[in-house]
This record gives sequence, C-alpha cells and structure tokens, in this order.
Amino acid sequence: MGNYAIAIHGGAGALMTGTVPAEKQKAYNDKLSEALQAGYNLLSHEGSAIDAVEAAVRVLEDSPLFNAGKGSVFNCDGVNEMDSAIMNGKTLKAGAMASVHIIRNPISGARAVMEKSKHVLLTSAGAEQFAKECGLEIVDPSYFYDEERHAQWVATKNNDVDYSWSGDGIPDGTKKFGTVGAVALDNHGNIAAATSTGGVNNKKFGRVGDSPIIGAGTYANNKTCAVSCTGEGEYFIRNVVAYDISALMEYKGMNLAQATAEVMKKVALLGGEGGLISIDAQGNISAPFNTSSMFRGWINTAGEKYTGIFH
Ligand code: ASP
Repeated sequence: MGNYAIAIHGGAGALMTGTVPAEKQKAYNDKLSEALQAGYNLLSHEGSAIDAVEAAVRVLEDSPLFNAGKGSVFNCDGVNEMDSAIMNGKTLKAGAMASVHIIRNPISGARAVMEKSKHVLLTSAGAEQFAKECGLEIVDPSYFYDEERHAQWVATKNNDVDYSWSGDGIPDGTKKFGTVGAVALDNHGNIAAATSTGGVNNKKFGRVGDSPIIGAGTYANNKTCAVSCTGEGEYFIRNVVAYDISALMEYKGMNLAQATAEVMKKVALLGGEGGLISIDAQGNISAPFNTSSMFRGWINTAGEKYTGIFH
C-alpha cells in the first residue's frame, strides 16, 4: 500500500440484475480484476500513472467482452472503427486517435501521438500510418471481429433511429455502451486518464464520439482530477463532461464527488445516459452512472479492491 490508486470502467449500460448469468458476471469481474491488477502492479513498483492506465486499458482492449479493441461494435458499414485518448495530468500532454481500424491497441496509438508527435488527435488512415511508423502492432481488421457483436449489429442495422441502443449480446435487447477506461494516481502525485472504444453500434461511418475528445470523454490535470467517461458520446461532448468536472473543482472549489454529481445532473437534464470514473490527486475515487449498470472497479489507496456491475 502507498499513496497510489487506480479505477477502471468497462462501459455503462442497461443490464438489469438477474438478467446476466452468473458465469458471465464472473467473466466480466475477472477481466476487470485482471485489468486493475495490471495497472496496480506498475503503480506498486513506482510506475507512472500513464503507464498504469495504458496497461489496464490494453487488457480490456484485448478482451472481446468489452466494446474496445477486440470485440468493438460495428458501424453502419459493418466495420469496426475505434477511438482512443490518453492524458497526463502532470504535463497536460494528451494524445488521441479516431476512426482507426488496424491498430491492435488503439490506446497505445493515442500514447504514441502524445509522446511522438506535436499533435493531439490523428484520425483514420493518417493515424494508422503514424502507428505503423511508430512500430505499433498492426492487425488485419478481422482481428476485431466478435460473433456476438456482429449478431447485434445484424439485428439492429436497419434501425436507424435507435442506433445507439444496440444490445450487449444478452438476448433481452438490453442496451449497453461498453467503452473502457482507466484513471490512476501514482506515488509521485501524478494522475492520468485513458479511454478506448468502438463507439456505438451501427454508428454512421466517420462518427467520432466523446472518448477521443480531450475534455469531453477524457481529461487529466494534477490540480484537479482525471476522468474517463462512458455513455452516449454526443451528450458527453455537448456537456464537455470531463473538463467541466475539473473546472468545477478548480474554479468553484468543489470536491470530486460534488463535481461529478453536478456534471452528471447536467448530462441527465439533456437526456443523456452514461457514467464515468474519476480520481483526484489525493486518491479519492468517484464513479457515478445514471444507467442501471456500469462495469467498474478500483483499488484504492488503502489497497482495497472492488469490482461491480450494478448499483
Ligand atoms: N462514449 C462512447 C461513444 O459515444 C460509447 C460508450 O461509452 O460505450 O463513442
């Protein structure tokens, strides 16, 4: 134990207690736990918050259980199109990628943009070319394919109105987003945030959500907090959610719990659904959501581990 902590999410959704078979719940909780441990092991060996959030997100990207990396949802053309972002709260440096199709771990692509370019956000073919030049692992687009996700897309692809309510592979039509994210505090007092997603099922080609938009779905500042969001991205962009939480702390003196509650109220007022994870420089964690479920977990500064799905 030390003054470090990590929190992660695997997406907000509308799963209802009792509808998720026990073995599936266990699979989700086990994967959340593995991701937490990947980040926490680094933190406990003097690793940086940036290394920890990248490591945790990579575990979730590699799992088809979550809508990021392998197992991403399909867009209206039947293509997996991914977005990612990472931000360092110490330097306020940030990197992001949008609409990428062949980078195995989009979060590492975002990190490469942050550390190896002068830019913050690269998109589609340009982002992919950059990832190749940086030596990141490139895969065939078929790597991201997951049968359950594909079946959800096929079932909903002609439903233009309800594009975001895609179902989550659990055959009762429940809605779920499934983006993944991590926030962490390291032993040096630095915080960081990372988010990675396939976006929303059946989205329009080229649609970019909140995840790679710095200040909307992802933000970190040592002065205030680190935040990673999940939910209907359009509402999180319009409310500039992640930065608004930071601004309420910086300019209004709110604590993390007050600021996240205030901003989630604004999201709900516009009709948006979702949730977020956040951490401050003291290691306080806040993870509110206004959906019925959000895959989430943390290991706090006391070393206590939690994973959960429902309220
Ligand atoms: N926020 C993501 C997006 O709109 C979706 C999600 O959280 O699952 O792209």
